[in-house]
Amino acid sequence: MSNSPRMVLAPFKIKFSETGVIKDIKKMIVRITGLPSCLNGQIVDFGEGNKGIIMGYDQEDVLALLLGDDAGVRLGQTVTATSEPFSIPVGEALIGRMVDALGNPFDNQGEVRTDTIRPVFSPSPLIVERAPVEHFLVTGTKIVDAMVPVAKGQRQLIMGDRMTGKTSIALDAILSQAGRDVICIYCCIGKALVALEKVLSVMSEKGAFSYSIIVAATDSSTAGEQYIVPFSAATIGDYLMRRGKHVVIVFDDLTKHAWAYRQISLLLERSPGREAYPGDIFYIQTQLMERAGQLNKEQGGGSMTFLGIADTLQGDLTGYIPSNLISICDGLVNLSTAMFSEGMRPAVDYNMSLSVVGGRAQPPLLRELSSNLRRNYLEYTEVARLSKLQSGMSKEAEAVMKRGQVLVAMMQQSQQKPAGLAEELLILYALRSGTLQDLDSTEWTRFRGEIGAFAHTKDPELGGVAEAATGLTPELESRLNAILVAFFRTGG
Ligand code: ATP
Ligand code: MG
Repeated sequence: MSNSPRMVLAPFKIKFSETGVIKDIKKMIVRITGLPSCLNGQIVDFGEGNKGIIMGYDQEDVLALLLGDDAGVRLGQTVTATSEPFSIPVGEALIGRMVDALGNPFDNQGEVRTDTIRPVFSPSPLIVERAPVEHFLVTGTKIVDAMVPVAKGQRQLIMGDRMTGKTSIALDAILSQAGRDVICIYCCIGKALVALEKVLSVMSEKGAFSYSIIVAATDSSTAGEQYIVPFSAATIGDYLMRRGKHVVIVFDDLTKHAWAYRQISLLLERSPGREAYPGDIFYIQTQLMERAGQLNKEQGGGSMTFLGIADTLQGDLTGYIPSNLISICDGLVNLSTAMFSEGMRPAVDYNMSLSVVGGRAQPPLLRELSSNLRRNYLEYTEVARLSKLQSGMSKEAEAVMKRGQVLVAMMQQSQQKPAGLAEELLILYALRSGTLQDLDSTEWTRFRGEIGAFAHTKDPELGGVAEAATGLTPELESRLNAILVAFFRTGG
């Protein structure tokens, strides 16, 4: 068998290429004749560094999406198509770098030193390669960690109207991963350059670049790049996940991604559906979000978590894109404009936020201490609503009100100051034990602002011990108590 034709040909890699001619250019859509065997998602070369992706066909021609700018692309020009899928460079060399949708760096730090490339439109991990999502991912936002926890490999949406603090929550999640052996990818889709610069400055000021990558297509990039960029980020993440790493990707934001795809589809003359989006927008975004997951031990045990940001219009979660995304993801953190304008930071609407993975992912101690938060909050909102209708309040109702007010006050936090696990646990423990209810609001503010740092000097190991603990043992309880007693003894 050793001299079979296959064995003889094996060392040679045959590359096919075809040439076609540009027949028409309509904005970023190029109509080409003469590429009889090309496939969807394949790359085509217009020369002079201009590239495109095959996006569809009609009876005679091929339609390609131009990726870069169209300056050098002319009618009648020849186009080459090699039988290769559209790929980008991937690898650990990308950590600390900023790249565009095609993987080209734009941070003036020279080229990215990696010789591995991966196709951008790859399938998601197979079911047999996956393991259940059950490892906690700390986000540093107290209310999220306590009530809508995120697990490694999960897809969590952060939704809200414009300017409600969505990016801030996602950035805090990135900052929280410092020293936790997690690689973060911030994927900017169609946001303004100033917004990207803001994220960039926060990340470099806080030292997050040592474990992060930025993959960006701003609103000045072409619609093609904006459409591809989340897939590129997922491809980089996928490579790292398959090497056993834990990866978090922030997509900021998926509504702009849908807009870019709508624009492309309208130019491709596909018939528009609801809200003028093409019928396959759901498929496209599912294909993207399905790539998150937790791999099993045989596959290296890596994970890829998605934090997808989506814009709503006047809090309407039933819009086409928001409702699609909700059905694709495993959890939702909803931000409310009304709460934001009341001064709540973060303005998480607890009633409209949920996580399918839920408490299963939380460390047992966190789960135990946060178990009655949602009920307490619901009771509080109900009593607050009723108290508007009638004057006078029973003793019990007053106690519920007070408990709710402390709870809401304790969940507030300023941006770029993610809470550590020890701080979260101490706050939850203090809430549960009722220590805070007899204090006034200045004491609440002092406690909230200083307990994290205080606990760190007093008992630096607490966070690690609490993460591994199986529940609130008497030993842990006295440890938490000791910190609280010492804190209030130092008095402000
Ligand atoms: P956009 O829709 O423009 O993307 P967004 O929903 O991402 O906005 P952010 O940019 O995160 O919102 O925040 C909006 C504003 O609220 C910013 O000025 C930010 O500084 C402020 N902000 C957000 N979270 C907090 C917080 N926890 N504490 C104080 N200010 C905050
Ligand atoms: Mg934002």
